[in-house]
Amino acid sequence: MQRSYLIKPFLDEEYPQAEYGKGIYLYDVDGKEYIDGSSGAVTASIGHGVMEIAEAMKAQGEKVSFVYRSQFTSEPAEKLAMKLKEWAPGDINWSFFVNSGSEATETALKVAIQYWQEKGRPSKTKVLSRWMSYHGITLGALSMSGHIGRRERFVPLLEDFPSVEPPYCYRCPFHQTYPECQLLCAKELDRAIRRVGSDQVAAFIAEPIIGASGAAVVPPDGYYQEIRAICDHHDILFIADEVMTGIGRCGKKFAIDYWDVIPDIIALGKGLSAGYAPLAATMISDKIMEPIFYGSKVIMSGHTYSANPQSTAAGLAVLNYMEQNKLVEGAIKKGEYLLDALRILQQNYPIIGDVRGKGLLTGVEFVSNIFNKLPFSSEVNVTKKVVTKAMEKGLLVYPAVAGMEGMAGDAVIIAPPLSIKGEEIDRLISVFEQVVKEIQDELQV
Ligand code: PLP
Repeated sequence: MQRSYLIKPFLDEEYPQAEYGKGIYLYDVDGKEYIDGSSGAVTASIGHGVMEIAEAMKAQGEKVSFVYRSQFTSEPAEKLAMKLKEWAPGDINWSFFVNSGSEATETALKVAIQYWQEKGRPSKTKVLSRWMSYHGITLGALSMSGHIGRRERFVPLLEDFPSVEPPYCYRCPFHQTYPECQLLCAKELDRAIRRVGSDQVAAFIAEPIIGASGAAVVPPDGYYQEIRAICDHHDILFIADEVMTGIGRCGKKFAIDYWDVIPDIIALGKGLSAGYAPLAATMISDKIMEPIFYGSKVIMSGHTYSANPQSTAAGLAVLNYMEQNKLVEGAIKKGEYLLDALRILQQNYPIIGDVRGKGLLTGVEFVSNIFNKLPFSSEVNVTKKVVTKAMEKGLLVYPAVAGMEGMAGDAVIIAPPLSIKGEEIDRLISVFEQVVKEIQDELQV
């Protein structure tokens, strides 16, 4: 085999080379078929090989692929911003386009700080967040992330932002049950803000449904209403990181819509272009834009490829395609069907401790003992075992790692394209069942 100089995630592992994709399937150069049960990294939400998107990108490429955002605007960027305004809740009307989810959350952090500067309150610079969260890999985004594993090497360079416990009912950090707990996990934000001082805090950031560091952890009802009230009480902005959950993934346009709460800023990525081009966005409310408009008139961030015509053409085509095919609405029913099937597996395989999710973002958590929910030790690395075995059998699932030894379990995300059909869900489940059965037998659970 020819030597490779491509830096891949793990340098000691072999990766198949992808040849092409169609719908929920990917094929490698040897012709092996994979069910894309995770939409890659919860990204390819309309499926692979959709010609409408390729054609929209080709048409834009034939006109102009790049203009610099300080010199020109472009039709697809304008149209996509307008479409997102229609999709977003409340007065979240403005879009700042970037290239990755990390840039979107990092821009959100900067906008929140800038907002308070424009309002004459420059001491408000901290962004509180939760343990068991992932907001991105760049240093600002990582500072906000409570993902211990991804933080640990860079701790000296990071701000110490994560401060509150996650709403993780399966392993409640307060050892309570809902609703008797009276949402202690949300109320902790109030205490955290008081400890730091609300004059220091610009914003609170949270994933409406926890993704990469927890596998589709859905908060209890009332949680976000309480969070919004606490933020308002202390004059703190609420940033919803919808990089994974947004653009229909969870059966609503934005996952936060389930709780009728309107954030001040929303970060988007992944499903925004469904993987057809690097594209992400920081969406900002009228309220936040107003003092910037009348103040410095410029958002102190931006990239060479921000609002790139080629990428925004892809994003616009994706949103149009989703509307035409009613993919968001369809994700609720398909998600229930998938969750029901996973719950049947849970009844039959004691290695499955919890099944959760909303729409087509679902998670499966593994335990060594179903009664006391004991997680496996990290040496066993069950998540890796499941992901590897699934891949051998032609099924892609996404590893979710909280990096909190003893506090959270091994888990995988199952999040196929929203375009998946009923019989394809059956096929996905049947392969996943074989994987679970074999791992359970191996580990003698
Ligand atoms: N925010 C959330 C909720 C994510 O899940 C991710 C990626 O997994 C990011 C931000 C970072 O996005 P990206 O990998 O595109 O930089």
